[in-house]
Amino acid sequence: MQSQRCKPSIRRRLRLWTAVLLSAQLAVSGGTASAEPAASDPGKDAAARKELRQMYNRIAVMTGLPWENVAALDRYERTLSRAHPKTRPLRPNALVGVYVPPERWSGYLNPDPEDTNPVSIRVFHGVGRDGSGDGIADRNNDLDLLYSVARQVRQQGPTSDDFAIGLWEYYQNTRAVQRILQFSKIYETFGKLDLNKHVFPLPVGTDYSYRSTWGNSRGWGGTRIHEGTDIFADYGVPVRSTSYGIVEVKGWNPYGGWRIGIRDLDNLYHYYAHLSGFDKSLKPNDVVRPGQIIGWVGSSGYGRPGTQGKFPPHLHYGVYRDRGLVEWAFDPYPLLRKWERNELKALKVHK
Ligand SMILES: [Zn+2]
Repeated sequence: MQSQRCKPSIRRRLRLWTAVLLSAQLAVSGGTASAEPAASDPGKDAAARKELRQMYNRIAVMTGLPWENVAALDRYERTLSRAHPKTRPLRPNALVGVYVPPERWSGYLNPDPEDTNPVSIRVFHGVGRDGSGDGIADRNNDLDLLYSVARQVRQQGPTSDDFAIGLWEYYQNTRAVQRILQFSKIYETFGKLDLNKHVFPLPVGTDYSYRSTWGNSRGWGGTRIHEGTDIFADYGVPVRSTSYGIVEVKGWNPYGGWRIGIRDLDNLYHYYAHLSGFDKSLKPNDVVRPGQIIGWVGSSGYGRPGTQGKFPPHLHYGVYRDRGLVEWAFDPYPLLRKWERNELKALKVHK
């Protein structure tokens, strides 16, 4: 980038850096921040996970879809509901995250949008089916919901290409297709639903400092407002994936430098920028686990590929929530504090 805005004089840069580091040290020693509000997520409770897994297996047998496809479909639906709580209300005591609007369930021309009769729903081309075996197609029943959507998607055929086409037919949205295929691959890789562990992006106990830099115009991030947290550390400190996930983007970006983007099962996009280098074996579409080293702290960016040193070395860490058609950044600082605290606690226990 040629912009002068990106090239503050050395003196000014040093002044900024000193100010940032000083306030970082102050901020870390005090104050607490609350994490994102917790949403109902059966994936976080062992008993609920077990029951969910049984449902996925059952729907897999009924439809011929692999269980990880059923799980991914359900997971994606849950993340949409989390992003749109008003238009996709959560059902009380629901295990399954699938939401189908009444008119889609019953059929658009069905005079009864709350129809639960599988025969009339079929006549009106609604997606609602009976998956639980009680003769009723109930929009509020976990098995009916899961079966109805899985069956609809499975109609294209048995191969993985057919699955992708079925997803496209159902969602009419390439992002939805990409997400569900990504989630499927994560579930397939680990073979379980218990994939909620998170860690701090740098090894806890190494020398680093950070503070809340959300919206701060002085941050080095590459967007107008600073969408993320800068974690200052020396060149070469390992950068680790904070979550289970799948590599979505890897390479050079004029602002972010060498950066890597990882999608997790909460449909969050974790963005790690200004790296000095990557783990060479990592490729887009590779699955990662929390704590896995993905690269090293650097100062790349603000120039042609390979540019380093236009600012002090740090990790720029951003998190974006996929809302279906657009993505929104939110402040990762509270999450970072939480993950760091949890790891410090675990370290003490093991001493
Ligand atoms: Zn930054």
